Amino acid sequence: MTIRWYPGHMSKALEQISELVRKIDLIIEVLDARLPYSSSNHLLEQVRRNKPCIKVLNKNDLADPAVTKAWVQHFQKSAGVRALPLVAKNIPETKSLVKLCKQLVPHRGNPGYPIRTMVVGIPNVGKSTLINTLAGRSIAKVGDRPAVTMRPQQIPLNNGILIFDTPGLLWPAMNDQGGAYRLAASGAIGANALDYTNVGVFAAAYMMRRYPELVKERYKLAELPESPHEVIEAVGRCLGCIMSGGVVDVHRAAETFLRELRAGKAGRISFEEPGTPEDVEAELLRF
Ligand code: GDP
Repeated sequence: MTIRWYPGHMSKALEQISELVRKIDLIIEVLDARLPYSSSNHLLEQVRRNKPCIKVLNKNDLADPAVTKAWVQHFQKSAGVRALPLVAKNIPETKSLVKLCKQLVPHRGNPGYPIRTMVVGIPNVGKSTLINTLAGRSIAKVGDRPAVTMRPQQIPLNNGILIFDTPGLLWPAMNDQGGAYRLAASGAIGANALDYTNVGVFAAAYMMRRYPELVKERYKLAELPESPHEVIEAVGRCLGCIMSGGVVDVHRAAETFLRELRAGKAGRISFEEPGTPEDVEAELLRF
C-alpha cells in the first residue's frame, strides 16, 4: 500500500512562517517525541535565518525515555538548537520551556519587551495544547484528529512571552514510505489516509523487533509468533476481536492494536530508533 500525502496549500504556510521568522527572537518547533525525525519538516531549517530554535519533543509520556534522550543529544549538536522533552499539559514542564526561552533570549522577556516567538509543527503534535498550557487558559482549539488548529494572531502570555501566530502548520516531509508508516502508526496522519491492517502489520513488525517483551506482556503471549500477521491475529484473540465462526477480525484487531500503541497501553514506545538522520533514513528505506 502507498500512503499519499499532498501538501497542497501548505507551501503557503512555509512562506508565512518564513516572513514571520524575521520578526521573532526564537522558534518553538513542536515534534512528537515518539518520532522526532519523521514528525519534523526539514524545510524549517531553510527559513530559520539562524534564529535560535527550541525543539520540543512533546508527548514524552508516551515515548521510550532512552530513545528520547538520544534524540535530544543529537539535536543539540546543531548550533542554536536546544531540545526539550515534555508533556504539553504538564504545567511545571512548560515552565522549564519558558526558562529555556529566557536563557536563549536574555535581552528580552521583560514587560514591554517580550520574547517574540512562534510555535510551529506538523498537525497533531500538541501545538494547541502547549499554547493553552503556556497561556493558562484555553486559546487554541485542541483536536484529537489531525489539522484542528485555530487561534488568534498574537498571544501575549503573562510570563514575558509573545506568541506570534501563523497557522503554525508544517506538513511532514514524507519522502519515503517508512516515514509515512511511522506517522500513520503514531496517529499523526488522519484515519482516512491509511489502511489500518497494513499499518497495523507494519507496527507489529516494528514492535516484534524493538519491543518484543512489551507485546508479550500486554497480549499475554508466552512466545511471539513468527510473523507480524500472526501477531495481529494473536492480539485479536486476546482482545476478543472475533467474527462469527471464531475467525479473528483482522481489520478490527489491527485498529485496536494501533489505538492501544498510540495510547501507551503496551508501555512507552518510540517509533524511531535514535541515530543520525542518515541512519534513520537508511532504516526507513528498508520498509
Ligand atoms: P496540534 O494539532 O499540534 O495543535 O495538536 P493538539 O494540541 O490539538 O493535540 C493533538 C492531540 O494530542 C490531542 O488529543 C491532545 O490531547 C494530545 N496531546 C497533546 N499533547 C500531549 C502530550 O504531551 N501527551 C499526550 N499523551 N497527549 C498529548
